[in-house]
Amino acid sequence: MLFNEMEGDYMEQGVFQIGPIRPPSEANSLLLRVTENCPWNKCRFCKLYKKNDFHIRQVEDVKKDIDTMAELRDRILRHYKNDEWDIESVNKEYQTLTSDDQRWCYQMVFRWLTEGDSNSIFLQDANTMCLRVDWLTEIIRYVRVKLPEIKRVTSYGRANTLAKISTEDYKRLKEAGLDRIHSGYESGSDKVLALIEKGCTQEEQIIGGRKVRDAGIELSIYFMPGVGGRELSDDNAIETAKVISAVNPNFVRLRTFVLRTGSLMEEVRDSGHWTEGTDIEKLLEIRKMISSIDSSKVNGKITSDHIINLLQEVNGDMDTDIPWMLEYIDSFLALPKLEQRKYQMARRMGFPLDWKQLWRMRESDRLIIEDLAKNIVDEHEWEKKLHVYMDHYI
Ligand code: SF4
Repeated sequence: MLFNEMEGDYMEQGVFQIGPIRPPSEANSLLLRVTENCPWNKCRFCKLYKKNDFHIRQVEDVKKDIDTMAELRDRILRHYKNDEWDIESVNKEYQTLTSDDQRWCYQMVFRWLTEGDSNSIFLQDANTMCLRVDWLTEIIRYVRVKLPEIKRVTSYGRANTLAKISTEDYKRLKEAGLDRIHSGYESGSDKVLALIEKGCTQEEQIIGGRKVRDAGIELSIYFMPGVGGRELSDDNAIETAKVISAVNPNFVRLRTFVLRTGSLMEEVRDSGHWTEGTDIEKLLEIRKMISSIDSSKVNGKITSDHIINLLQEVNGDMDTDIPWMLEYIDSFLALPKLEQRKYQMARRMGFPLDWKQLWRMRESDRLIIEDLAKNIVDEHEWEKKLHVYMDHYI
């Protein structure tokens, strides 16, 4: 990740700021750092910005970054002739870059131009929606002028902030060109929200989410099955489904909770009132949550677009595919325990497979996995082993 110190008099050529995180769906987007770090910074499961203070960047500095992106785009596009990239000359130019920051920025703009959905820009960091609406609209308008090929402007926004923004301001943001807000709701349960110190309530989630949707801005919300522990598993599932049914977001993105080493959730566990569920218990919670959604009120998508979810195939439209998603989960749960375990271990080791595709693995890998699945008899040891892998890739 890149953190530049460019806000002083000196500004390195061809460099703009890049923050540490973006949603997976923005992997090929340009990343425009509008604020730095998180203004809340208290969620107990989150370690991301704990050592950094929140800052709002000056609009003029953000605009300079947009200018730099546009200059880099023009520079890189000179290597595109007759519908083809001259990769050799791209590489030659890349070799002339003298700092890591220059190389990161060049790579990002090149990837944005060449890979997948190259029409998006994501506004960083954790809660850009807390910015004054005048400033945010000014920045988005500037993006639209300087980078006219951008078709989608997206941002993170915390539920508590989203609830406070007026309907009028959402309309202004939409008119300026804000297309989608990503928001980590994590849970719809007030009990769980208090436990993890999320700093918002179910009511705020519903109010904020509805305002976003009413303004015609897409809403992508993230939930953490398992974050309430065994004790609040049912509450987490049912109350989360309630929020989804009330808000009808465009996307529900699942992020199965795993207790991270060094996070404040360890204190919650040590208090003795919270116990982390097993991998399979978390899957059962996902099942309960999905089955509790009122499919007559929603038409967005559920996606499992993160390696942290055990069954990546649980994806689909909420108005039509819920029966299919439940059947798919049930078909996995109906497998003999050894088969379940083999898939769990393969997935947790990072093989991005559907459980029906295990046979495609290399025999040597299959044998290692089979050995672990058969020979770790103690359930506690088994969960610990899975956890070691998951702790690495969150
Ligand atoms: S709001 Fe987001 S970035 Fe900030 S502490 Fe919570 S999870 Fe972390």
